[in-house]
Amino acid sequence: PGAGKGTQAQLICKRYDIPQISTGDMLRAAIREGTELGLKAKSVMESGGLVSDDLIIGLVKERLTQPDCVNGCLFDGFPRTKAQAEALDKLLKLKNAEIGVFLAMQVSEEELVKRLLNRGLTSGRSDDTNEMVIRSRITEYNSKTSSVADYYKQYNKVVMVPGEGCI
Ligand code: ADP
Repeated sequence: PGAGKGTQAQLICKRYDIPQISTGDMLRAAIREGTELGLKAKSVMESGGLVSDDLIIGLVKERLTQPDCVNGCLFDGFPRTKAQAEALDKLLKLKNAEIGVFLAMQVSEEELVKRLLNRGLTSGRSDDTNEMVIRSRITEYNSKTSSVADYYKQYNKVVMVPGEGCI
């Protein structure tokens, strides 16, 4: 959280003319629209936890049926757990496709907290205004998401990107 995924994702998608599939943006849209998924995701997101794998996988599965994905896409903030990575591989296999590269941005924890609190001043995201929630998101990242890189390392797909300095 706060590493700059969304910012880099936008630049990459523009350059390669592919859609940006941000599970966070999709969940926030579901909350705004008051869908069943939104209702289920809201409290988890507000507390800084991860939304359940089943809900996320269902969301991505549906999104991938849309025609704009035929030439590839960039997942932003997904997969966030090993179970999501495994489910994604299965899903892509059915479509004769696979992940090309896994990018992980590296930023120190203090810098993340600073950026997120700063973003909270204008983002309108309640999960960016409370330092306890920000710390919970980082704890979730350390316990469930950081190891997703290991999953892709076995296929030699990981590129680590320094996330501090200029955009
Ligand atoms: P950030 O990375 O700054 O936290 P995101 O928009 O990527 O912003 O995610 C916001 C929140 O949405 C997460 O804290 C989590 O609750 C939920 N979320 C987004 N993507 C996933 C995912 N792939 N799996 C589980 N939860 C997710």
